[in-house]
Amino acid sequence: MAQEKKVLLAVLAHPDDETFGTGGTLALYAHNGVEVHLVCATRGEVGDVDPQYMQGFTSVADVRVSELRCAAGLLGLSGVHFLDYRDSGMPGSPDNTHQNALAAAPVDEVAAKVAHYFRLLRPQVVITFDPIGGYRHPDHIAIHNATVCAFDEVQKDPNAFPEPDGLPAYVPQKLYFQTIPHTFVRIAVAAMKLFGGDPRHFGRNKDVDIAAIAEYSFPINATINYSKVAPLREQAAACHASQGGGMPNRGILSWFRRLFPSRETYMRHFPPPVKGKSETDLFENVN
Ligand SMILES: [Zn+2]
Repeated sequence: MAQEKKVLLAVLAHPDDETFGTGGTLALYAHNGVEVHLVCATRGEVGDVDPQYMQGFTSVADVRVSELRCAAGLLGLSGVHFLDYRDSGMPGSPDNTHQNALAAAPVDEVAAKVAHYFRLLRPQVVITFDPIGGYRHPDHIAIHNATVCAFDEVQKDPNAFPEPDGLPAYVPQKLYFQTIPHTFVRIAVAAMKLFGGDPRHFGRNKDVDIAAIAEYSFPINATINYSKVAPLREQAAACHASQGGGMPNRGILSWFRRLFPSRETYMRHFPPPVKGKSETDLFENVN
């Protein structure tokens, strides 16, 4: 028998990922009466925060969790759940090797924690990052791998990851990866070169290599039009002021948003996509 309540779960890495990559989708489903939850693996401990945003806070994590609470309220999330790992920073940073760094944690350990939230929240649909974590952030890749592992293992055996949580086994029906069309990324790289920019050192901290990202190609299997709730997504982005959320031109995703307003795009991991068929609703065929 079909479960009455629709539940969507996003499994991401840092405070702000929920808004910058998937905010429109999360707000749209919450607006439509779906119970929307976020599992956030870290508290964004190593984010770059200007001193003006630290007033009244004792740590970067506190600032970023407070920004996340603000965004979650606007997006209409029913719950935010932390996995209590530590932000690993970008590739090569010493934070990668911190004993509690998400990127250094064993995949099956993180997957077991994600599977616990499958049982607790019972989402039919799960969202995470694409296989390169959007822009090759080690934490994004780590939580992608753990979510895929948790999802695939419970498809094979609902009792995989046994934990003494006393919760009944649960198998989500669909898994999506948030991604952007890589043809778009290739055009952005060409445009950047034309205007004298450096696509290998892009972004606020000059640590995003868009040229490398452009070499990947992921299919787009679902496009979500969130125009109905676009102002909420913008207000949620403004909550992440310490991460430049109030500014209109944040990274390549903002270019994408200007060209394709109110659209977020997804690749479907499970069930395997049907060639030539694109969805406009992540809950299509969910029972
Ligand atoms: Zn992130």
